[in-house]
Amino acid sequence: MDIHEYQAKEILNKFGVAIPDGALAYSPEQAAYRARELGGSKWIVKAQVHAGGRGKAGGVKICESEHEIQDATNEMFGRRLVTHQTGPEGKGIYRIYVEAAVPFEREIYLGFVLDRSSQRVMIVASSEGGMEIEEISAKKPESIVRSTVEPAVGLRDFQAREIAFALGIPSELTQQMVRTLQGCYRAFTELDATMVEINPLVITSDRRILALDAKMTFDGNALFRHPHIAELRDKSQEDPRESRAADRGLSYIGLSGNIGCIVNGAGLAMATMDTIKLAGGEPANFLDIGGGATPERVAKAFRLVNSDENVQAILVNIFAGINRCDWVAEGVVQALQANPVDVPVVVRLAGTNVEEGLKILAKSGLPIIRATSLMEAAERAVSAWKNDLSQNTRMRIVK
Ligand code: ADP
Ligand code: MG
Repeated sequence: MDIHEYQAKEILNKFGVAIPDGALAYSPEQAAYRARELGGSKWIVKAQVHAGGRGKAGGVKICESEHEIQDATNEMFGRRLVTHQTGPEGKGIYRIYVEAAVPFEREIYLGFVLDRSSQRVMIVASSEGGMEIEEISAKKPESIVRSTVEPAVGLRDFQAREIAFALGIPSELTQQMVRTLQGCYRAFTELDATMVEINPLVITSDRRILALDAKMTFDGNALFRHPHIAELRDKSQEDPRESRAADRGLSYIGLSGNIGCIVNGAGLAMATMDTIKLAGGEPANFLDIGGGATPERVAKAFRLVNSDENVQAILVNIFAGINRCDWVAEGVVQALQANPVDVPVVVRLAGTNVEEGLKILAKSGLPIIRATSLMEAAERAVSAWKNDLSQNTRMRIVK
């Protein structure tokens, strides 16, 4: 789960990371008022969206009067900000963070990620902050410092000092840098984060180390341990299809194709998507309805997949191991009878009680397209979609 910059800053600040003064606003008037409260004569207004690259996309603006703040934020509020990380649909701007503009001398990149190969938290840092890490690794790979943390002992001061040294932090600031690194590491581990990124971390003109940007991502499976973090979820920043699925306990990732997938098991869902592509189609989603595909879950999955306007055919691929095909087939039939869908539906069942399952589908009288192998199922879904397009009509599944 992602959170906003201002939320990440507040959290990291509690762990000892220094940040500029700032305040949140929900309207241009409030933004101007916040600036007055903060004092000073230069402010940065920052669109709060769950994506980076805001600066280049017009989501971060420097303002020198309350008037400028009103104008700049008026432009931003309610708009969708498109950055290279958001996709073409962008993310809605409903909150703006007003921050004191801080003169700085140097920008540093600092990231904490989970390194799967070493199974440890890895600190990635670079003296070339301000650019995205991808750009740094393309243009200045030699500037990147990597260091993994031994979990049994945690991040020790000497290791943090080594990182500060490798980044060329002036010696009088080493202690502040160590405090910043320690704070991020503690926040990362204590809050079950999967990513903490500060870009840029700056050395200010008055010799302080400050986080001018902050990003945190949390492990969704650990949120039950951190209710105060779970509360920070902002549905306005999520793909509405994904938030609906999450609310219904389904693992769903929306994609841009037009063949909807309903599959049990994440591995099988991945294989199904691959096979659809191999057959010349594009999956509209990843959807794992879980091992125990009850009729209710199947019905929820149908409603979810069918609510996606791009979906022009639905492929149900179920492998019944512990589950039973006849039971799943009942679920499919019940779901389609209760909620008719207006696109062709291809069903492939395999595993326990497959014969009974197929009989139930056949007996239902529903125009379900059946398939035996995964490849056949994918090909049928693709050709159902193509025929559908050429005739410009949709096969209706009715009661
Ligand atoms: P993003 O990474 O989404 O583009 P940032 O928060 O990193 O957004 O802001 C973009 C740039 O704006 C930063 O790299 C920094 O140069 C500048 N900036 C951001 N906040 C401040 C601030 N409080 N004072 C001065 N400059 C800032
Ligand atoms: Mg940034």
